[in-house]
Amino acid sequence: MKWINHQIVTGFIVCTATDNALFTASAIVGAVLPDKVEGSPPKDSSAYWKWRKKHRTWSHYPLIYLVLIAAAQFAKEYYPEPTLAFVLNLITYALVGALLHIAEDGICGKVPIFTPNKKYGIKLFKVGSWREYFFVVLIILICLFARFGDIALLKSYIDLLET
Ligand SMILES: [Zn+2]
Repeated sequence: MKWINHQIVTGFIVCTATDNALFTASAIVGAVLPDKVEGSPPKDSSAYWKWRKKHRTWSHYPLIYLVLIAAAQFAKEYYPEPTLAFVLNLITYALVGALLHIAEDGICGKVPIFTPNKKYGIKLFKVGSWREYFFVVLIILICLFARFGDIALLKSYIDLLET
């Protein structure tokens, strides 16, 4: 998936789930983190294949991000200081963004799940294909429906307006 699409999909999911602009911004930053830590592919051919072998291994290993999230949440419990708690929440959502990136990579390629070097995935579409954009639009529509499609809630708003 293209970086911009990682950011759009992750942004919509986190915004829908949290309804918080700062957490969403954090997740959007984290949405490209697993690729960023790998650095850009080297131009030199032998260096490229060395880089390629490590591509989507440790950087895309979900357990690392889960452990970091647990550490941030533990630190929050241990030092209940509001500013620190807020910063730790921002870090947590950046890591959630990274986890969503890995899940998104897992549907257009392969990513590690249990160990860093064994990868799994289902290839629903090719990166940059029209199917990718279709998928992105679908996620946006699902998020919008989840956020605004609650008919009962909508009706209660209307009732409230009428009173
Ligand atoms: Zn990736």
